[in-house]
Amino acid sequence: MSACDLNLDFPGVILTDVYLTPTLAVVVLVSTAAESSCPSCHNPSARVHSRYVRTLADLPGHNRPVALRLTVRRFFCSQAPRVAARAAGERY
Ligand SMILES: [Zn+2]
Repeated sequence: MSACDLNLDFPGVILTDVYLTPTLAVVVLVSTAAESSCPSCHNPSARVHSRYVRTLADLPGHNRPVALRLTVRRFFCSQAPRVAARAAGERY
């Protein structure tokens, strides 16, 4: 299986890799959105705070569980410190 074998159409997300392990099919995705909205004040921000990986597992496919590994970014809130959240992760 390769990345080209999959037809994923998630706005703001690109497929960067697909590989098999003995127990999993792993789909690697990266967020490409230019900005994200703060969950507290709802203002958009393009100032990236950090990145981390979210893993969704237990989706069946190719006779084994499939894990989606999505790298998302945390953005600084443009209104901080006026709101409690100084940084928030992208939401899907
Ligand atoms: Zn905010």
